[in-house]
Amino acid sequence: MLAQVIVDVAAARTDRPFTYLVPQALRERVTVGSRVVVPFGPRKLQGYVVALEQPPAEPAAAGLGQRLKPLEQVLDELPPLTPELIELAAWMSKQYLCPWITALQAMIPAVLKGRAEKWLAATELLDEAAAARSPLLSELRRGGGLSLAEAEKRFPGEAALLSGWLEAGWVSLSERVHDRVTRKLVPLVSLAVPKETAAELAASLPARAERMQQVLCYLAECGQPVPLAELLELLQVSRATVSSLQKKGWVRIERQEVYRDPYQRKPLAPQPRHQLTAQQKASLAQIERMLAARQYAAFLLHGVTGSGKTEVYMEAIERTMAQGREAIFLVPEIALTPQMVELFKARFGDKVAVLHSALSQGERYDEWRKIQRQEVQVVVGARSAIFAPFRRLGLIVIDEEHETSYKQEETPRYHARDVAIWRAKQNQAVLVLGSATPALETYALATRGRYQLLTMKERVGGRAMPSVHLVDMREELRSDNRSMFSRLLHEMIEDRLQKREQIVLFLNRRGFSTFVMCRACGYTLRCPHCDISLTYHRTNHSARCHYCGYAVLQPTHCPACQSPHIRFFGTGTQKVEQELARLFPGVRVIRMDVDTTAQKGAHEALLGRFRNQLADVLVGTQMIAKGLDFPQVTLVGVVAADTSLHLPDFRAAEKTFQLLTQVGGRAGRHSPGDVVIQTYSPDHYSIRCAARHDYEGFYQIELANRRQADYPPFYRLILITFAHPELPVVVRAAESYASYLRPRLAASTRLLGPVASPIARLKDRFRFQLMLKYRDEPNVTELLAQVNGHFFDWIKQHQVAVTVDVDPQMLI
Ligand code: ADP
Ligand code: ZN
Ligand code: ZN
Repeated sequence: MLAQVIVDVAAARTDRPFTYLVPQALRERVTVGSRVVVPFGPRKLQGYVVALEQPPAEPAAAGLGQRLKPLEQVLDELPPLTPELIELAAWMSKQYLCPWITALQAMIPAVLKGRAEKWLAATELLDEAAAARSPLLSELRRGGGLSLAEAEKRFPGEAALLSGWLEAGWVSLSERVHDRVTRKLVPLVSLAVPKETAAELAASLPARAERMQQVLCYLAECGQPVPLAELLELLQVSRATVSSLQKKGWVRIERQEVYRDPYQRKPLAPQPRHQLTAQQKASLAQIERMLAARQYAAFLLHGVTGSGKTEVYMEAIERTMAQGREAIFLVPEIALTPQMVELFKARFGDKVAVLHSALSQGERYDEWRKIQRQEVQVVVGARSAIFAPFRRLGLIVIDEEHETSYKQEETPRYHARDVAIWRAKQNQAVLVLGSATPALETYALATRGRYQLLTMKERVGGRAMPSVHLVDMREELRSDNRSMFSRLLHEMIEDRLQKREQIVLFLNRRGFSTFVMCRACGYTLRCPHCDISLTYHRTNHSARCHYCGYAVLQPTHCPACQSPHIRFFGTGTQKVEQELARLFPGVRVIRMDVDTTAQKGAHEALLGRFRNQLADVLVGTQMIAKGLDFPQVTLVGVVAADTSLHLPDFRAAEKTFQLLTQVGGRAGRHSPGDVVIQTYSPDHYSIRCAARHDYEGFYQIELANRRQADYPPFYRLILITFAHPELPVVVRAAESYASYLRPRLAASTRLLGPVASPIARLKDRFRFQLMLKYRDEPNVTELLAQVNGHFFDWIKQHQVAVTVDVDPQMLI
């Protein structure tokens, strides 16, 4: 038998299956999806079996002589990947122009990504006398060997002597591939006799052996092995008691593997089941119908904040489980809070696995293995949980489907939504995309029937949407209020502080970007060609377009109103915190931004403090915008709505609308609340529509703008970025690439650039980019693969990094 193997080297040259012989001994253990070790040139590599086939009748004629090498090892009892996932990886590699191996690697837990390492070991020639000369040699002789890296670290002085020892034949140097898997073993106590016998034995013991009786009865009652530590703690017996039972042959103590479950010990509050509202019932009925039909179907559940979407998802998941099928529930990383996890654990008990990045690698691996071993039927997780190795997938839910975190911003640059569609089709499963503010592309597809639209317009329990107050900051300037708080916001903060109610202040500032704005009239500099804001460059006081390269000097007076108050714009969370302290002495503030949440667990700890009323005001960036549910918050203030409105990104208006709607959704979930939005552009449709909770209105205007400027959903985009330490090299690479590509494109396709990337220099490398806007270019990824191939040698020789981003989400 022959195995086609993708090896673990992410390079264009090795991006194809290599053929290996399957030795007799491994035949039973190897399947499509197995992780294997193969010889590769002088090295040993980890790889994945993507196909198994019978050798051709005449191997020589087929060009398969003795050159074929055998597989060396099959690494797991259960293959980590399924045939479906292998096929998915092939699709991803075409779709996203990434090496096949990187798609495969994205699907499995990090601990399984084996590393090859150089391994030092003592040989038989190394006798005691020789070993006595050096601490490293005696270490090697004593133990089973050391990795070269560790040897160099622990015995830095002796690495230089290695080559001599190798020559003398005292030590050997080889390649080993191993993974970083660890399994947690704990002693478990179980009965070694049948249950009934245990009761008799207990009765036969003398009264002073009361403790032994207790242990026997408890084990008989449990009917399953109990961790030793738990038994000792619970019954307050000593280890000696258990040992004497073991000596009698009545109980067994065995070390067994347990899963590391960070949630295991948390008591779960029983969650009340809600009587579904009429609109929840209607949505669920549609989903159920397609589940029952076991056919592919895709829904967009468009429900306002607080309409009870989660309950619909959970009911649908239950129906799926009742069919004996499995469900994947994706949430944005930031929304994967302990409350969310508890909700699912309370509902689905040990049938649910949770995958997110706050888990340690070991914990992640354990959760993942529950899926692999088919011990759970539901997985709740962030983006990569879409690769859960289920074999009977029936339902995929993507909550907050508009979130940009569903797109991976490194190779493979996949979007979980695309992968979900692929998997749902493959499995005849149902896909549910849910959001209060669906991505424009998603909603457009729903109106064209590609997704079935389910709408929930009312909040549960008839609760009102919060009242939103728009404040025109230009007016504040005119009234000589130069503070970052408008008079209205100031008053309301004062009022809530007095009433001891809580306040959330929100700054939708992202990234590094600054734009040029007139504070008197709100005018911003925009590119006349691309309809996006120009970005301010401090170095030469210019403002540039990052799509096409257009540039102007920063004006000294506003072109619209002649005011001199035109300059670049930005307010930080720290400044807000200081201003609060100055204006409201004694106010207790919690600040949440990238600085205060860098540490693991900090995010949760800060939110916990706010929930427990240890602060009056929570100040934060978009990380506080969603998923949070604080009963005491009755005021939400958006300090500067404009910062996201003028990002150099054609989705700026959409992102602003989404953020403001989500932020507004935080207020008044339990009691009536107010939202204050401060802006220099109170007439902008994204702000007006968010204030009116009007998705449909926003959608219509934005769609017309997108049509006008040839953006998605009318055109699709591909971003190609070039990076190199030397500017001339990167410019030349981008230019040659563009001139080779341009004549090969369809007439309706446009190629913008090359221009400097918005982040023109990153990690000491200059960056240039090209942007492809296309509508009718069905083979565009094949074409780009061919162009990449054409430049392969040149790129490699000059070490230019080229990245292709299909349907880019981040344009800065
Ligand atoms: P969404 O995700 O649509 O913003 P949630 O699912 O968070 O809304 O629901 C909002 C609140 O309403 C939650 O506290 C939830 O427990 C509650 N809820 C959901 N469905 C019902 C129902 N049918 N009856 C009563 N309360 C409900
Ligand atoms: Zn002006
Ligand atoms: Zn432009």
